[in-house]
Amino acid sequence: MKEVPTIEELLARLVRCPSVNPGAKEITEDYEGEAAMVDLLRELLEASADHVEVVEVVPGRPNLIARFDGAAGSPCYALEAHTDTVGIEGMTIVPFAAAVRDGRLYGRGACDTKGPMAAMLHALLRAKQEWGTLPATWYFIASCDEELGGSGARALAQSGFSCDGIIVAEPTELKVLIAHKGVVRFQLIINGKAAHSAYPDRGSHSIHAAGSFIQGVEKLNASYREQWSDHLLGPPSVSVGTIRGGDHVNRIPDRVEMEIDCRILAEQGADDLVEALLELADEATAGDAGLSYTLNATQKYPGLATSSDSAAYGLADSLAELAGHGYDHASYTTNAGFYCEAGIPAFVWGPGSIRQAHTADEWVDLREVEQASELLFQLIGATHA
Ligand SMILES: [Zn+2]
Repeated sequence: MKEVPTIEELLARLVRCPSVNPGAKEITEDYEGEAAMVDLLRELLEASADHVEVVEVVPGRPNLIARFDGAAGSPCYALEAHTDTVGIEGMTIVPFAAAVRDGRLYGRGACDTKGPMAAMLHALLRAKQEWGTLPATWYFIASCDEELGGSGARALAQSGFSCDGIIVAEPTELKVLIAHKGVVRFQLIINGKAAHSAYPDRGSHSIHAAGSFIQGVEKLNASYREQWSDHLLGPPSVSVGTIRGGDHVNRIPDRVEMEIDCRILAEQGADDLVEALLELADEATAGDAGLSYTLNATQKYPGLATSSDSAAYGLADSLAELAGHGYDHASYTTNAGFYCEAGIPAFVWGPGSIRQAHTADEWVDLREVEQASELLFQLIGATHA
């Protein structure tokens, strides 16, 4: 078996492999992508893992699933980290040099989420080297496309994959993150009928209808605030983020296009929300046969609520105790929502801070990554039937 590389070596290799999400605004010339990360991870894991599988989500964009077998009849857990990063526009450091200064490793992805990924890899490789057979079965999962769509995690969650709990790598400052909202986005198009503004009765006013819809959204937000006032994450919310319509000041506009961003709770689900928006659009266009609308969901990231009677919660408890930090919740979304929605209990944990993620000089504190690896190593050692 190969010598386990140091955290710094591991993380530097991960950061030096550019894996900007292909949907980012600016792709670098030396862009290698998520597939190159999977090749690198396969090389790192091949000699130690009992099984390594690469599954293409879309051509050129794979997930990797490595398995370390545990004792017979033991539970089965997973460590999951995304391979992609955000783009590099506006960065003030060399993005993929993995320079180390004052105990920090700098580079795009160092914090989100290659630092947490390096901690996971290191803990698993070390556990395998020291113990041969692990006390429980552990998967290491590398997923593509977390930053712009989540197609990697979504595909895995829908593939029938199952285990007793998944720890999703994100920079949480070693706090166990058990709840976040989900995001659902819609496009609403209201079609009306164009006419000269001197003869408004000849037209159907799409912008005025959009105004009624937005008033309805404000009422919906008010009712959410009342209904969910004592909730941990705060109430769900709906925001019209963009609106485009009309072309001349003297013409009744025949089309308005809006993008709507909704922050929902895991236990709330999206169906109620869709119904509420349809009702508002119905009301806004009622009474004028010249008005019609279409509402399309464009993006969906489920919320996270780690079930307190799951094995994953036991894992979360152990990690919270080992790390000495409490539980936390977040305003951003993570891959854990996809697993939670598919019935696989999950929570989020890792070294580094979300404040350094996506920044112009992204970095992670190497000591914190080492600490995370040590804590995971202890967790793996303590996890048996
Ligand atoms: Zn991330």
